[in-house]
Amino acid sequence: MAYNSPEGTVDLLPGAARHWRHAQDVAARLFSAYGYDFMETPIFEQTEVFTRGIGEATDVVNKEMFVVRSGENYRRSLEAGTDAGLKGKSRLSLRPEGTAGVVRAVVQHNLVEQGATPAKLYYAGPMFRAERPQKGRLREFHQIGAECLGSTEPTADAEMIIMLVRFYEKMGIPASDMTLYVNSMGDERCRPAYRAMVRDHILSHADEMCEECRRRADANPLRAFDCKNAACAHVMASAPRITDHLCDDCRSHYEAVKSYLDVAGIVYEEDPTLVRGLDYYTRTVFEVQSNAIDAAQNAIGGGGRYDRLAETVGGRPTPGLGFALGYERVMLALEASGALAEASPYVDLYVACVDATVRSVAFDLVRTARDAGLRVEMDHQGKSLKSQFKAAGKMNARKVIVVGPDELEHGQVVVRDMVTHEERTASIEQSKQLLSRFSGDVVDDSTFAAPTQG
Ligand code: AMP
Repeated sequence: MAYNSPEGTVDLLPGAARHWRHAQDVAARLFSAYGYDFMETPIFEQTEVFTRGIGEATDVVNKEMFVVRSGENYRRSLEAGTDAGLKGKSRLSLRPEGTAGVVRAVVQHNLVEQGATPAKLYYAGPMFRAERPQKGRLREFHQIGAECLGSTEPTADAEMIIMLVRFYEKMGIPASDMTLYVNSMGDERCRPAYRAMVRDHILSHADEMCEECRRRADANPLRAFDCKNAACAHVMASAPRITDHLCDDCRSHYEAVKSYLDVAGIVYEEDPTLVRGLDYYTRTVFEVQSNAIDAAQNAIGGGGRYDRLAETVGGRPTPGLGFALGYERVMLALEASGALAEASPYVDLYVACVDATVRSVAFDLVRTARDAGLRVEMDHQGKSLKSQFKAAGKMNARKVIVVGPDELEHGQVVVRDMVTHEERTASIEQSKQLLSRFSGDVVDDSTFAAPTQG
């Protein structure tokens, strides 16, 4: 019996994996300019890290988490007919997002000592949500995310947003094909009263709204802003706006963030209904949408400030903020914008054999060049010279060295430039020496020595 990958997951085959590597490389280069360091946390955490951090009433936690059990604990629960006896540390879930785990790690390892400079961290890896799979909505997907802990300053918010926008630009998404939305969700002083107002608004229109929104009214009323049901959207259009109810501190923080974005020339739209799905956000929230893809999956990334999250997962009060961008969505956006460049494989050099008698010489040449750090390939199937050139073309080889018995008798090889198609002979010994000392980026003619005359 042959098996397929589980529902809602995809294999990152070499072509797609090259894109994923590229996205990570772009992030690494860009984020380091902003002072962010790479880190990794486990793929699974104690479930409570998510239930407390993200919030019990969120869809992500309530409906979409994959539970993880050791075989032993799973068997015990089956026998007992309940897993109520499981200790907290044995209750594990696959991470549905990255922030809760990073903040847990920051608290555990005391990465933000009192008075120290902020911890600026980023991660890249798979996340898991038991959603109904569809285009752009997977059960295993990949996020690149950044977190900054230890600053309340609006400059940190603006910096984070600018970094996210620059990432999309560097990946090649045209600025005209994406929209940045910003909002402030207030804090523990002004949000409770606002939340109650939204709750009352929903309850006073309960008969017009879907069951889910009615149910949300108490636990998570702000989520009703995200409901796709047309009648709910109509009711929520007349709901009170958070930006009319911010306290003075939140208002001036929000104004400052926007002014830094203005100075940086970052174009954004204010969206007072932008609330984002997770409980932990306070003050600044933002989301970037691709205008080129379906509205249901057009969020290519977003984030916000979470000044209370560290306390929620057991740390001392530590302000923070972050974003996560969905790699698969970025790929969809690039494709829809016609900006997805094929990530072709390439080698610096292909060493072709005219016949089997020269294989060991070719093999030695390949090894020498690889030891010097060049990407080099040769044939391992005894193919014809024509097929070897075809293979070299497929790999986008820049140069092909042809090792043939006749040239070899004179200590020579033929070097073909695959771009200009020019061919010339070179001395094998000196070329080998030059290849072994190779330290540049590009293989060019200077990498190969001309044959000695006579
Ligand atoms: P969130 O943590 O929900 O704010 O998600 C951050 C980003 O991850 C979103 O903007 C999407 O780009 C991406 N994302 C979230 N859920 C999924 C999913 N099920 N499949 C693919 N991408 C997702």
